[in-house]
Amino acid sequence: MATNYLFNHRDHKFIYKEWLNMEKLFSFDTYKDYYTVDDIDTYLNLAFKLGKDVLAPTNDDGDKLHAQFADGKVTTPPSFKAAYQKVMEAGLGPQSADRETEGKMPLSLHCSISETLLAANMALGIYWGLTAGAAGVIQKFADQKYKDLFLPKLFSGEFGGTMNLTEPGAGSDVGDILTKAYPTDTPGIYKIKGTKQFITAGDHDMVENIVHLVLARIDGAREGTSGISLFIVPKYWVSEDGSLGGSNDVQTAGIENKLGAKGSATCVLVYGENDGCRGILLGDVPGEDGRGQGMKQMFNMMNEERLGVSIMALANAYLAYQNSLQYAQERVQGRLITKPKGPRVKLIEHEDIRRMLMYQKSVIEACRALILKTYYYIDLSHDSPDEEERRFADMMVQINTPLCKAYASDMVWKTVAEAIQIYGGYGFIEEYPVAQIARDCKIHSLWEGTNYIQSMDLVGRKFMMGQGKPFLKWLNEISRFIEENQDNQEFGKEFGMLSKALSAYQNILANLQSYLQDGKIPMMPLYSTRILHATAMIYCGYLLLSQGLVAAAQLEQLGPDHYDAAFYQGKIASAKFYIINIVPEILATQFVVEQGDCSALELSADSF
Ligand SMILES: Cc1cc2nc3c(=O)[nH]c(=O)nc-3n(C[C@H](O)[C@H](O)[C@H](O)COP(=O)(O)OP(=O)(O)OC[C@H]3O[C@@H](n4cnc5c(N)ncnc54)[C@H](O)[C@@H]3O)c2cc1C
Repeated sequence: MATNYLFNHRDHKFIYKEWLNMEKLFSFDTYKDYYTVDDIDTYLNLAFKLGKDVLAPTNDDGDKLHAQFADGKVTTPPSFKAAYQKVMEAGLGPQSADRETEGKMPLSLHCSISETLLAANMALGIYWGLTAGAAGVIQKFADQKYKDLFLPKLFSGEFGGTMNLTEPGAGSDVGDILTKAYPTDTPGIYKIKGTKQFITAGDHDMVENIVHLVLARIDGAREGTSGISLFIVPKYWVSEDGSLGGSNDVQTAGIENKLGAKGSATCVLVYGENDGCRGILLGDVPGEDGRGQGMKQMFNMMNEERLGVSIMALANAYLAYQNSLQYAQERVQGRLITKPKGPRVKLIEHEDIRRMLMYQKSVIEACRALILKTYYYIDLSHDSPDEEERRFADMMVQINTPLCKAYASDMVWKTVAEAIQIYGGYGFIEEYPVAQIARDCKIHSLWEGTNYIQSMDLVGRKFMMGQGKPFLKWLNEISRFIEENQDNQEFGKEFGMLSKALSAYQNILANLQSYLQDGKIPMMPLYSTRILHATAMIYCGYLLLSQGLVAAAQLEQLGPDHYDAAFYQGKIASAKFYIINIVPEILATQFVVEQGDCSALELSADSF
């Protein structure tokens, strides 16, 4: 049994009760009759219990037994079904920002429930994560009769949901898809023909039906992404009374043999091989200009899933950290460098082990702060009674989404590497939990648009959205925070560093702008990944330092002998470590961008 589910909610509770203003959120009409700050612990405890007692015991099955494909059907490990059912019964399954149900849970709370459950069994949690995104699209874009037909069963988990963009010849560039849609005699119903690849949860045995959201080009629509439309394509056709009809000619041709997340089925799906696959068009038929609405609609799901990916990355990183911490506290090896003839000590006594623990702890808390703040903005953008606040929050979500997705998923690969390093050779052995986490977590930088795609979304679109005004507001929040706290005693050095890093960051932006003005367009994709990281680091530095201020004030009140003092000391240490050890990377990025180094572009392909 490699799985060792170690999870605690102390940081989450700090975020909800001392850092984010949840009272304000719970005072909104949508939530006021259903949630209070006092309920937060109950939900987190319920999620922990489910994670520990129900999901974690099935995690090894996913990794060892895998999802299996035989006779055109996919089966999941036997223990998955009961565990899936228990999560649905607890009401902690699919949630979407667009859900219009009374008593819906704020996503800023639900995301920590997801982190708790995904840490226990990510491969299983993926199944209902996608269902949530598919339901959100139907909620937003489908006619009422289709909402009535699909949504109750999607939100209850009786039906599963998927997203179908990728094809063998169309990955990052979705505009090249070949799947076609042909009109039938029934308005809004099309015949679908094509092959989709890498479809997560594309087939499995835990639900009655699977509702695929499929991108396809209506015959005659224009080439490229602007000609694509989106269709609801159920595995079994659903009659108007809700009963399941026969097969809708969606065949599973196989599943992938993957590096990780092996309990999650990644399918090749063939639509309409027997000419019998029907799809329901979402939105309008392309007009004379041949433009479809599919990509815009699919972005709704992709943005939800991108944030979902950040939660998965966080869950993986946190589980690996907790395990490496436990190992470091138990394993005895070597002697102190200052007492070479002294007794053997635990790993946690060694300087380099402490460096790796602090690296993990501070990066994880930085990512959690970024992700939870972004989900908080999502709730504001949907439910605040103040229109101006809704608009502002929506802009912040748009800017932060590529940061959450790409920064959290790039960093989990690094933090899990440090967790393995702490185990030494045992980290490389499958009997210990961190090996599987390393295999599972690599997918996060690849799917939902590779992290390069995220970086171009940030640099190419989000910086300039609304003539750059929202991004300016985003930046001003950081400079205002520094200005307001520049005389702070406890964090004087850290505010100095953050201020320096902010100037360096502004220089990066100015350099980029002047390259673009000079027509040096390839400089943007050449530097975009590093600029995304710099953007995430400056923002995370600000967020962690603002948490550090709260923690310092609390510690001052409680005193060092209080039972919870160690937690607040840990928060202060995370903020200081992150700002002094990680944020200075922004200065290195500034140097590179300023130099305008193009060696990677100038080298001929033969010289690599
Ligand atoms: C386990 C798994 C599950 C998945 N689930 C789903 C799913 O449910 N639904 C779905 O539709 N898809 C799914 N995918 C597909 C996934 O989203 C794609 O793999 C991803 O978008 C990248 O496409 P690709 O693999 O074809 O790589 P490519 O597009 O070939 O990219 C290869 C590399 O080239 C880079 N690159 C590509 N184009 C450019 C460019 N113009 N400039 C610079 N660099 C570029 C990429 O960043 C990447 O590093 C899944 C994939 C996997 C592995």
